[in-house]
Amino acid sequence: MKAAGRKRRKVCPTMEEKAQKKTATEASRAAEEEKVKKRTAVKASARQCHREGMESGSTLGDIEDFSADDAQRIRAALLRWYDVHRRVLPWRTANSGGIRGNGEEGKEVDQERAYAVWVSEMMLQQTRVQTVIAYYNRWMDKWPTVHHLASASQEEVNEVWAGLGYYRRARFLLEGAKSIVQEGEFPRTASELRKVRGIGDYTAGAIASIAFNEAVPAVDGNVVRVISRLKAISANPKKSTTVKGIWKLASQLVDPLRPGDSNQAMMELGATLCSTTTPGCSACPISEACLALSLSRSSGSTDVTDYPSKVAKTKQRHDFAAVCVVQLTEGSDEESLRGRNNNDVLLLVKRPEEGLLAGLWEFPTVLLDEEVIDVGTRRKIVDKYLKELFHINLKEICNVILREDVGKYVHIFSHIRLHMHVELLILKLEGDLRQFSENIQCTSAWKCVDGKSMKNMGLTSGVRKVYNMIQDYKKQQLLQCPMLSLRKKCKSSI
Ligand code: SF4
Repeated sequence: MKAAGRKRRKVCPTMEEKAQKKTATEASRAAEEEKVKKRTAVKASARQCHREGMESGSTLGDIEDFSADDAQRIRAALLRWYDVHRRVLPWRTANSGGIRGNGEEGKEVDQERAYAVWVSEMMLQQTRVQTVIAYYNRWMDKWPTVHHLASASQEEVNEVWAGLGYYRRARFLLEGAKSIVQEGEFPRTASELRKVRGIGDYTAGAIASIAFNEAVPAVDGNVVRVISRLKAISANPKKSTTVKGIWKLASQLVDPLRPGDSNQAMMELGATLCSTTTPGCSACPISEACLALSLSRSSGSTDVTDYPSKVAKTKQRHDFAAVCVVQLTEGSDEESLRGRNNNDVLLLVKRPEEGLLAGLWEFPTVLLDEEVIDVGTRRKIVDKYLKELFHINLKEICNVILREDVGKYVHIFSHIRLHMHVELLILKLEGDLRQFSENIQCTSAWKCVDGKSMKNMGLTSGVRKVYNMIQDYKKQQLLQCPMLSLRKKCKSSI
């Protein structure tokens, strides 16, 4: 039997079919023309923006708003991309599948989500996602809700935060948690959230949109980069008029039905594809709308990375400090030098409650007016400081076992390069540690920490670095030296 229909017979199209085909062809031609028209408009607009921006260093006054259609297209493309490509991060999964709504249960879920977003956003400022994940998980294990956090001490919070830097953020989290608990719950709008100490425009926008579905933007550095490129904005991104304009543009791209996802999609694009130096434009879901890309294709002299324009960094200040790691021992000289005496402790002093690294623990440190190269001069300065700090001549209650210069370490803060000259001072107590504590009257808070606790406690990265320097020094130098030669090195004016 011949397979029916295997050989197709030519069938003459009916009048109706012909008409349908014609309509389809015309529609596709119209769509193509529309596409070309749009592309030309984008290029013209890009050239215009570029001309105006580059030639006059223009502000955002020259930049048009997104048209309703463009905004809709960008929002939809971003959300489609985000649904597929978003990274799985612990704060994104925190109660994200929970019930939302006006019921008590829904409210609780929103509150927990707000807390998760708040903590993560505070941690993510100036810190890489990969670093934040471990800190975030530890934090949430210890303080799973804002109520738990509100009852913590600053000391505990600093411990968990230690190493993340920008310690003011940890302070703000604790102060904010206390005020939120006092008021009863997280405010649900960006404008109310801004009233909480330490919550700025960006964090307020992130919490309000992600946890409470408010259609407000959240503009961080990633969003500034994406919008500057979308609109080829060459104005200084730090200028208040530019910042204001970018917030306005960002608000036009917030999806009213999914504001949280919409904001996160924009941030995610900036953090992954639309990176500072190597944007992946070929995979970008909104490349069709990107003026910077269009401009870079039509002009060989510009690149998408020209946007946003680079702002000269403020010059870093150079500060100098003498750091004295004081080790107190009750045991024999050799045990102390070889780190075998478990009773040995290191002296830590608390920094003032205001200013840089406020309220954090450090080794005794003296800020110097200028770089002091001469070891003897530095020692005199340190000795004077220790005398003033403890109101006692340490020489009277201690014997110096070792005093050695360990080296220099430069710790970099955002605006300061702190050059630390580090020395190790091992003191043998005349009596025991309890007696020592009774004998001294310290002008600041201080504590003695043994080696084991030191390893586990939360320390700022600067203090941790100094501690590691001391450990390395002991391992590499001290243990190889005969005891006598070391003793000869010990000169102290204490
Ligand atoms: S096309 Fe390139 S430059 Fe433009 S938004 Fe996308 S990744 Fe960024």
